[in-house]
Amino acid sequence: MHICLFDIDGTLLSSGGAGKAAMEAALESEFRTPPSAGGVPFSGRTDRAITQDLFAFYGIEWSTANWQRFLTAYLGHLPRCLARHTGKVLPGIAELLEVLVLRDRVAVGLLTGNVRDGARLKLQHYGLFQHFRFGGFGDHYLDRDDVAREALTVIQREFNGSVDGERIWVIGDTPLDIRCARAIGARAVAVATGFHSFDELSNARPDLVLADFSDPAPLLDFFI
Ligand SMILES: [Mg+2]
Repeated sequence: MHICLFDIDGTLLSSGGAGKAAMEAALESEFRTPPSAGGVPFSGRTDRAITQDLFAFYGIEWSTANWQRFLTAYLGHLPRCLARHTGKVLPGIAELLEVLVLRDRVAVGLLTGNVRDGARLKLQHYGLFQHFRFGGFGDHYLDRDDVAREALTVIQREFNGSVDGERIWVIGDTPLDIRCARAIGARAVAVATGFHSFDELSNARPDLVLADFSDPAPLLDFFI
């Protein structure tokens, strides 16, 4: 059995900035911040880590209560932001998922920094949610490597501990996706459909790097 674990933003889809806009709207509606997230980096990071930095930027106390307040507001704003921003499913992804789910010896899951409910809302908006049964999410972790460890635990439970790391494929658009694959002994596939260039991703030494999935054959060849 091969397991493909997909990142969401920049890999499966581009939300056209909807995720960031929903975070900024949540800060504004709950904490009355001015509408600017400063220089906080979003790419490849967990929602929890991004939010912690946003709180620090605005001088908001990092507490469980404030994180929950933020999260409820973020999930409330996200559907409207998804509807207002023009995003897209990235090239070849819909076709790739259709092919993978039909294969007996391949299972498809998520490895994302998104909180679980945010992941669901984004994937539902773009008609992709039905393909994903399991995964690791960014609700509880600051470090993406810990999300990968959660995904690995879920996989071993789902498949009775029978999956070898060499058959787990972490598919993402940032060097952090590649790093978290290595943290669990998995293979790394990088795709340059996010903010990182083909060369930048190549330098992080994934097993495979693609410009996009318009031709998925280089990935599918691993599963024959
Ligand atoms: Mg990404």
